[in-house]
Amino acid sequence: MDANDVSGDIDHVLLSKEEIQAVVKDLAEQIDRDYAGRDLLVVGVLKGAVMIMADLARALHSHVTMDWMAVSSYGSGTASSGVVRILKDLDTDLMGKDVLIVEDIIDSGLTLSWLLSNLRSRGPASVEICALLRKPEAAKVEIDVRYIGRDIPNEFVVGYGLDFAEKYRNLDFVGTLAPHVYA
Ligand code: 5GP
Ligand code: MG
Ligand code: MG
Repeated sequence: MDANDVSGDIDHVLLSKEEIQAVVKDLAEQIDRDYAGRDLLVVGVLKGAVMIMADLARALHSHVTMDWMAVSSYGSGTASSGVVRILKDLDTDLMGKDVLIVEDIIDSGLTLSWLLSNLRSRGPASVEICALLRKPEAAKVEIDVRYIGRDIPNEFVVGYGLDFAEKYRNLDFVGTLAPHVYA
């Protein structure tokens, strides 16, 4: 059994393991350059950002501290409502800190837009966003995202942290699901 052998469930691969590694390395270089000599707090949004956080944090040369937040933006459906609930808050006081939110994917942008204003209200020195993936065609709100790994088409994707009904998070690539999986 190999967790990554789900070929029957995957329609097509959008980012291979190798492509993800290259994207993460590139993001880490930009972040290292921008935050040189500063203390950075990276905030991962559970659960989807676990993989990108783990790889990005290790690719960075800067010293960072890490914290986690869990939010729920979905009601019963699959579309973001913009109504966000904090399931797990940060342990860290943000006052005066340089904060980088790390997200798996920006779809409508509603979750991040809410998170951004929530974290900004806590008195940090700065708040920026790093997202592995973004679906530009799905945007419902404009958000200023400093670091983007890859823009992708408006399709539902799984793998590398992203789930469908809590499955496929541990794939080492990002792909779309075959239609029979939804049925
Ligand atoms: P947004 O508020 O930007 O619409 O999306 C919020 C969250 O929905 C994302 O952080 C992610 O957890 C989830 N999401 C959005 N698009 C996808 C997708 O294509 N696949 C998966 N697995 N989750 C998604
Ligand atoms: Mg997420
Ligand atoms: Mg999910």
